[in-house]
Amino acid sequence: MKRKSLTKKQRVEIFDAHSGRCHICTRRIEAGELWELEHCKPLWLGGADEPENMRPAHIKCHAVKTAGEAATRAKSDRVRAIHLGIKTQSRNPLPGSKASGWKRRMDGSVVRRDAQ
Ligand SMILES: [Zn+2]
Repeated sequence: MKRKSLTKKQRVEIFDAHSGRCHICTRRIEAGELWELEHCKPLWLGGADEPENMRPAHIKCHAVKTAGEAATRAKSDRVRAIHLGIKTQSRNPLPGSKASGWKRRMDGSVVRRDAQ
């Protein structure tokens, strides 16, 4: 996804709109401290790439937040893939499981799953 780049003016406006506070640790961003604009609702969660969804944050706070989200993001991707029916097939499925392609009937006979 292409991210919009903001003008200097827009960055100053967003900074002022949040009274120059880091939205993660709520501490003031002091002169000379490194900060960047952060998406309040992450893009991967459907957040808008718009100034209204952006908050100033210290670079350090932001890095910690991004790292903390990695597991959640991966899980959300996996759940979504399952929802969409995208499966990765196991190379050696567990014998007797659905993925093996075989099933045992109530009478004990073993048949292919597609066979009725
Ligand atoms: Zn901070």
